Amino acid sequence: MKAAVMHLYDEKLENSDWVVYQDVPDPKITNPSDVIIRIGGAGVCRTDLHVIEGIWRDHSDLTLPHILGHENAGWVEEVGNGVNNVKVGDKVIVHPLMTKGYCLACRRGNDMHAEDSIFPGINANGGYAEYLLTNDRALVKLPDNLDPKAVAPHTDAGLTAYRAAKQAAGHLLPGEYVVVIGGGGLGHIGIQVLAAMCAAEIIVVDRAEAALELSRKIGAHHTVKAGDGWVDEIIALTGGHGAEAVIDFVGEGDAVQKGLASTRNQGSYYIVGYGGKVEIPTIDMITSEKRIIGCLVGTFPELVELMALAERGLVKLDTHEYKLSDANKALHDLHHGKYTGRAVLVP
Ligand code: ZN
Repeated sequence: MKAAVMHLYDEKLENSDWVVYQDVPDPKITNPSDVIIRIGGAGVCRTDLHVIEGIWRDHSDLTLPHILGHENAGWVEEVGNGVNNVKVGDKVIVHPLMTKGYCLACRRGNDMHAEDSIFPGINANGGYAEYLLTNDRALVKLPDNLDPKAVAPHTDAGLTAYRAAKQAAGHLLPGEYVVVIGGGGLGHIGIQVLAAMCAAEIIVVDRAEAALELSRKIGAHHTVKAGDGWVDEIIALTGGHGAEAVIDFVGEGDAVQKGLASTRNQGSYYIVGYGGKVEIPTIDMITSEKRIIGCLVGTFPELVELMALAERGLVKLDTHEYKLSDANKALHDLHHGKYTGRAVLVP
């Protein structure tokens, strides 16, 4: 099959080519629960850039050469002899983690904390290819009105945004405020989930006017241009208190300190984007009783819930299609902020 293969790390992201479009052996069924997916679309994610930079080198058993791509959807091509829940030809979206289902975390539904899990695209070959190896437990069948390439980024970008926004929606009341930092790839999904699942006023902060404009169209009640004084604007918009929930899709630079400063006392600061550091004096933690919550992708049931929102048209992805052979261009366009929303590679 054809695949876009990463052969080298590039710590400063300076190279013109990060992957090579080439022939590689087809994936093979070796376990009864294995499933091979014909890729309809593979999302391009900032995590792919972080893999190329080498950030994940010490946090996973990643080996080179490597096929990126953890946001996959397509059609079932081949199944192992123990697979009963899908059949050849089914249209599916792929939960990013391959789990076995026997550990306590799996049995409790905490897929992301499963023991012995495999994360194709991170520590196994991913979906920047014509075919992907996954297993039966990872697959959610897609309804007729959803196309794999239109929903592929939901498996990570959408799911992560959904999990954070769902947690915030669980405690946000009418009359309260939620701040979304970063209205781009993940943020634009989080905004739609918040609009669908809670009645709080949604405030979006972003540097890019295009992202703010998109945010207003999909449910933001207020938008704030990120600059030096944006915390003051949030404080003013929230009646002098800060927001009951802040969802930080940036997680680096000054977003972290400003995000915490925008969180009301006893409010919750959700970390989704990463790369920075949280620094807060412990005395401020006890006096403010702020909660700081990390969000790691989402569970299989949460992917099913998100597909229910997508099927009803309540969450739409803003996608940009690239050919698999143009993977380098898609990655560079992401790195240089050439589009809002998400890029999808189509073989
Ligand atoms: Zn991703």
